[in-house]
Amino acid sequence: MRKPIIAGNWKMYKTLSEAKQFAEEVKGLAPDSVKVDTVICAPALFLEQLTQLLSGSAVHVGAQTMHFENEGAFTGEVSPVQLADLGVEYVVVGHSERREYFNETDEAVNKKVHAAFANSLTPIVCVGETLEEREAGNTTAKVEGQVEKGLADLTEEQVKQTVIAYEPIWAIGTGKTATSEDANEVCGAIRSKVESLFGQQVADAVRIQYGGSVKPENIVELLLMEHIDGALVGGASLQAPSFLKLLEAGA
Ligand code: PEP
Repeated sequence: MRKPIIAGNWKMYKTLSEAKQFAEEVKGLAPDSVKVDTVICAPALFLEQLTQLLSGSAVHVGAQTMHFENEGAFTGEVSPVQLADLGVEYVVVGHSERREYFNETDEAVNKKVHAAFANSLTPIVCVGETLEEREAGNTTAKVEGQVEKGLADLTEEQVKQTVIAYEPIWAIGTGKTATSEDANEVCGAIRSKVESLFGQQVADAVRIQYGGSVKPENIVELLLMEHIDGALVGGASLQAPSFLKLLEAGA
């Protein structure tokens, strides 16, 4: 049985006072009161305060990206050591916005995944196709390639702990959601790819989220799908009442 995992991705939204207000509204969630693993991936500036405010609650804290080096002359970057030191537990790697606007390659994604494990962070590795790739019938080839390169040279144990987020790029922030069946089909293809690379036990254990305009109204049917083990949520994770509704759906 795979425990679902619902992660909010705040992107570059909120001020510190808004982030703290959100934390006040969700911090009462006791760990045993939610049946899903719960994460908020916040801007790096807020991570220290959020780890403190949410400590002891069901809500874990994640970063939205990081460098793969532990330290160095990389102006403006944040390292895995610095994240772990703050009590951050998760990190999103290879989000399509990072790939598109910041030239994050599959090779960099792979280095970041290794760096995450070296620092006891759980990576949420994003994969997904563009609309053109989908229309050309290349969805499976695209995501399988991203999975193979992103997870290269990991141990079976590490892959079991990795969270993969399937996010069709055309569904992110657009209000267009993949149908549950389509999303499940691609998540199933990802699981088969993991099986061919790392074996069946690993494929049975790895958690695969769907992301792309998930909201309280559509999350239930997505989570009922065989291969969908949670959601990575942008817009609908920004307000506490909406985020709490998403968690209720996972129960
Ligand atoms: C995301 O940020 O990864 C995402 C899926 O955003 P949204 O839910 O707003 O489409």
